[in-house]
Amino acid sequence: MKYLITLLSIITIIMSLSCSKKEKADLVIINGKVLTIDQENPSAEAIAVRGENIIAVGTTRKIERFLENGKTEVIDAKGRLVIPGFNDAHVHFGPLDPDYIELRYTTDPSVITEKVKAQVIRSKPGELISGGHWDHEMFIDKKWPVKELIDNVSPDNPVMLSRADGHSVLVNSYVLKKSGITKNTPDPPGGEIQKDLSTGEPTGILKEHAKNLIVTGEIKPVRTPEEESAKSWQGYLMAMNQAKELGVTSIQIPGSADFEVYEKLWKSGLLTCRIDIGESLTGDTAVLPKYKEIEKKYPKEGNWIRFGYLKAFIDGTIGSGTALMFEPFNDNPSSSGLAMMSYEKFEDMVLRADKMGFQIGVHSIGDKGNNWTLNAYEKALQINGKRDTRHRDEHAQTIQLSDIKRFAQLNVVPSMQPTHCISDKKFYKKRIGLERCKGAYAWRSLIESGSILAFGTDYPVEPLNPMEGLYAAVTRKDRSGEEDKGWFPEQKLTMEEAIKYYTLGSAYAQFMDDRKGMIKTGYLADIVIVDKDLLTIPESEIMKTKVNYTITGGKVVYASGK
Ligand SMILES: [Zn+2]
Repeated sequence: MKYLITLLSIITIIMSLSCSKKEKADLVIINGKVLTIDQENPSAEAIAVRGENIIAVGTTRKIERFLENGKTEVIDAKGRLVIPGFNDAHVHFGPLDPDYIELRYTTDPSVITEKVKAQVIRSKPGELISGGHWDHEMFIDKKWPVKELIDNVSPDNPVMLSRADGHSVLVNSYVLKKSGITKNTPDPPGGEIQKDLSTGEPTGILKEHAKNLIVTGEIKPVRTPEEESAKSWQGYLMAMNQAKELGVTSIQIPGSADFEVYEKLWKSGLLTCRIDIGESLTGDTAVLPKYKEIEKKYPKEGNWIRFGYLKAFIDGTIGSGTALMFEPFNDNPSSSGLAMMSYEKFEDMVLRADKMGFQIGVHSIGDKGNNWTLNAYEKALQINGKRDTRHRDEHAQTIQLSDIKRFAQLNVVPSMQPTHCISDKKFYKKRIGLERCKGAYAWRSLIESGSILAFGTDYPVEPLNPMEGLYAAVTRKDRSGEEDKGWFPEQKLTMEEAIKYYTLGSAYAQFMDDRKGMIKTGYLADIVIVDKDLLTIPESEIMKTKVNYTITGGKVVYASGK
């Protein structure tokens, strides 16, 4: 009996030891304003993380019990907002060009001079110096940039710096000279050579078709295959850095990408966001089994590199007048857009891929394009039977009102990009008229009919920064702000909803809502801490909000402004 008691007490001690060991956290976040996106437990102060997962969510007092002195990393959020990591559900992610001069968000034009100067030093004479995304509306003086900004630092190199919209470019005198553009050169049809009002000299700004006059006379750099691959690797690292600085912990690439590079990044411990990569939709029964092989290698059960969905295009864009519409465009009555293939062929492809169990995502912009996509998914459901397909409608941009409810009915995920709305709204009404605009970017209507949205950016079409998406979703206003209520304000979302669809909604679209997209015990510890309280700040502050911490899989991959 005595022995038994001793034995029992030993077992108890061992159990309590192992329990207390298990209970200790590798990382805790305390004193935060945690927006969990978990309906059952919407808010908290603190989070405990062990390994890749969240092990507890609660008050700071409760979470401090998971602390092990000297071993647990502690982040004091100091009242800042803590949310799940952003999951970009539609992003054409890939390596950046290390030689490209990124000028997005530049407010001081002298930065352009400095960046060009630095790149010229890294280059050989005659090599092209390129960059862009500047927007003079963001400059302190709001003036168009001029060639004098860059001439002195680039006497022997052609320089071309595109405006954010790609419609204008700033070139230096080297390029003007090579192109033979002088004060006497007339504007070409559909283009403008901007000229100084007092001297008549070209300023260096070439607009629209005037860009076609450009002759750079560049000398192409010669690189060995080793140099080429080193450059590409550096470009991937830059892309990773960009994502983590913006709090993006998951990306979903439509179409294909290089699985091997991401695997190499992962093995090197450099993959800081989880990634889904798909392939192109096909009805080719010889190709579909090959996709199955890739899926086996990168299964849905994985958490880091996974096979995504099969992507197709049914139409083009509203901007270029190629979206497939039921009725002609208001500003071009001879056209109602373009189908990328016949409906019959499309449906056949969808049926075959669905039958083999693939998830499908179709780029659909026009109301007829969206209708076709829903029709094909409906047909697949009828013919192949019901399963949890979560087929996706990429963009779901303009929907006829009677089709809105079909998304939820057919379990189709509207994978949408809020920034497209605020970029496109300026020409939407002109293109398709007021009535059809009611079904454009119809976030609220889709939610009310039971849909779960997935949010993303379509980067590089739009910036990768999730703050722009959140701003667009809650305001439906220009980036520069507007006095009125925004474009079709009844479709606006609340900030909490916008964050939810950018996290949990995107996770749902990739079958990961059971382990990602919420700050919840057992879930993957993908967490972001931001410097402003998105839930209470004025609209004008949203895009100025910066990420202070990005945590992916329990690891702090980015920290600034502690
Ligand atoms: Zn896209």
